[in-house]
Amino acid sequence: MHVPRIYVDADLAVNATVAIEGAKHHHLRNVLRLKAADAAVLFNGRGGEYAAVVQAVTKKATQITTLAYHPIHRESPLHTCLLQGVLKRDAMINALQRATELGVSKIIPIQTQHLSEKRAQLARRWDAWQAVIEQSSEQCGRTQLPELAPLTGFPEAVSMIQKADFDLRLLAHLGAPESRTPPATPPQRIAIAIGPEGGFSDAEVTLAEATGFRAYRLGARILRAETAPAALLAHLQTRFGEFSEAKR
Ligand code: SAM
Repeated sequence: MHVPRIYVDADLAVNATVAIEGAKHHHLRNVLRLKAADAAVLFNGRGGEYAAVVQAVTKKATQITTLAYHPIHRESPLHTCLLQGVLKRDAMINALQRATELGVSKIIPIQTQHLSEKRAQLARRWDAWQAVIEQSSEQCGRTQLPELAPLTGFPEAVSMIQKADFDLRLLAHLGAPESRTPPATPPQRIAIAIGPEGGFSDAEVTLAEATGFRAYRLGARILRAETAPAALLAHLQTRFGEFSEAKR
């Protein structure tokens, strides 16, 4: 039987009972139909996970007791920070799901020039993005949750990345020449920026290059904005991270 993995934003310890309420409780009760004595796995995104058992399912809450801690680690050794241009609703959800599965460490949703929605409307979507990251982490076995930063303007985001400690900063851009010059030493912390459906504006490309980003093109074809982060993350995990054959 499938044992559900459940993310809880709480301190956890062995032999502790957690009451899960709200939307997650409704999902566990009405969709997964969990009942007393069913097995579950709890994790809080701070490393490891707990084997657990359902104590009771009431109208208000699902109560789960932890039985044993497993210090299992399923995170990539490569630190990746994704600056993702905000996409249309479903495309953004797909992009966040795939990035989480591919081991992204941090996601900064960025407001770019080629964007039709107003900032106030976008800010309201943050909770839905966080929920997608939690669900994806539950499904794929992550033991640490990718951090979701607040919605950030493009100039602020690239300036933040310029000041932070990254070995490589890439701007995924169709106007860049296709080149695969390997860095002198394998990078351990990489920032990648992906444009929205309409791509980055010329001014954004110029600004990114001035703040240390290298425009980077992957292959000959145009990828959909929701495919591009997955393709680039898989490519980087293969060259420098957990899919690489080289020993790290
Ligand atoms: N007409 C837009 C343009 O020319 O930029 C197309 C944008 S594309 C649908 C959305 C984003 O995905 C781009 O801004 C870029 O970040 C990324 N992207 C798509 N295909 C790519 C490729 N082959 N290499 C690198 N980035 C790519």
